[in-house]
Amino acid sequence: MVKKILTLFLLGFILLLGVLLFNTLTYKNNQPDFEPVSHFEVGEKSIQNFSRAIQFPTISFEDPNDFDSIPFLAFHQFLSEAYPLADSLLEKKVINKYSLLYKWEGQNKALKPAILMGHMDVVPIEKPQNQIEFERRVGKLKKEMYSTWEHPPFGGDIADGHIWGRGAIDDKISIIGNLEAVEKLLTEGYSPERTIYFAFGHDEEIGGKEGAIKIVEYLKENNIQPEFVMDEGGIITGEKVPGIDVPVALIGTAEKGFLSVELSINLPGGHSSMPQSETAIEVLSRAIVKLRDNQFEKKLTPPVRELLGNIGPEMPFLQRIVFANLWLFEGVVLSIYEKSPAGNASVRTTTAPTIINSGFKDNVLPSEAKATINFRVLPGETSEDVIAHIREILQDNRVQLKIGGFKSEPTPVSPTEAFGYHIIAQTVKQQFPEAIVTPYLVVGGTDSRYYRELTDQIYRFMPVTDPIGFHDINERISIEDFSKSLNFYYLLLKNVGK
Ligand SMILES: [Zn+2]
Repeated sequence: MVKKILTLFLLGFILLLGVLLFNTLTYKNNQPDFEPVSHFEVGEKSIQNFSRAIQFPTISFEDPNDFDSIPFLAFHQFLSEAYPLADSLLEKKVINKYSLLYKWEGQNKALKPAILMGHMDVVPIEKPQNQIEFERRVGKLKKEMYSTWEHPPFGGDIADGHIWGRGAIDDKISIIGNLEAVEKLLTEGYSPERTIYFAFGHDEEIGGKEGAIKIVEYLKENNIQPEFVMDEGGIITGEKVPGIDVPVALIGTAEKGFLSVELSINLPGGHSSMPQSETAIEVLSRAIVKLRDNQFEKKLTPPVRELLGNIGPEMPFLQRIVFANLWLFEGVVLSIYEKSPAGNASVRTTTAPTIINSGFKDNVLPSEAKATINFRVLPGETSEDVIAHIREILQDNRVQLKIGGFKSEPTPVSPTEAFGYHIIAQTVKQQFPEAIVTPYLVVGGTDSRYYRELTDQIYRFMPVTDPIGFHDINERISIEDFSKSLNFYYLLLKNVGK
């Protein structure tokens, strides 16, 4: 009997080993195969144009009262002058005073248009928030105000093989890349079959309410239904995917939701010499710790599953066994992913305490304590799920919940078997033949979230490799990356326009 069980066990084990090996050895990624194509030389003029684009401090401040229209209007003027053919041959609409929508009319009206997006606003530089006027003019920037930068943030310096400044990556490269490519194609007498729109918002960094939302309203009113939309979001990375040594081109097929919840507690205060048995600060602190200790469930959403499916075959043998057999090792992969902040953000709704407020004097017990917790919601879940989770974990009626100002639900997942995805993947392969192309989940937010009413094909990608200084100091792009980006947009427009 024992022998029989042992034999069965052994057989089962061999069978399992066979399945694991079979899956591993037949594990291949589904990469589109395209010939790299000839490129256009990026000249000094394009580099100068980009340098100039950075010199407009088109800043989105948190407080709308700080908004300065002058750099935005000057930026519009600059675009007209730098891209005279695009300016005269494309139909241009100014939306809500500061956003721009260009239409490049295609010859075949039966084809649904494509929309390529970008945003002209940038985040402020780190300091000093109380001296808004210093940013109104580039010339007024004094060195001590950006001492942490190696080059002035709105200088557009060309140095050490890079073009420097706020917006070099996020997101003026999308605007300049597209317009350089359009101008070049117009010079060559190219005319697309498919209509292509270029939608450039002016307030992405503060939620896109005045820009992207108004552009989408205009598109809806005019019954313009795009085949697909491409916005910023994904990048090419040689560093961020551990375990493989080929670059990975990440195309965002979904985006997490955004929700901030304020927790507030009101309890009697009083003299700190005679504290109550429980204080407001204490109840709040416990609530925060409880939420952090009881994280949302980790899970693989479709974009992350597809990412694993594409990078897995490139992994060393042992890891390949794991990735090729997710039916057995899903839990293992999830546990590895949750260990790093970026991996964790890809596999669960995250819980991040970002603001805390209470107390004003060292000998007074405050009667109120407040904290803001920011949640980034996984596709497939909703902000209602988040609220339910908070209540369930806290089980404390003294904690009042209030939903914060900006809120967005996670987006649906865009299909990969679709024209938009194919055309972007194809162009990546033509420009970056060594890269693996894959869907992935965008953990931040982009303006493209508002386009979900117009199409289910929404993709987020920017042809830049491991960008430096994203929302940080010393933002810059290498001239090599800049050239590759322009070539990418040039090829993309040709592929889309066909
Ligand atoms: Zn951006």
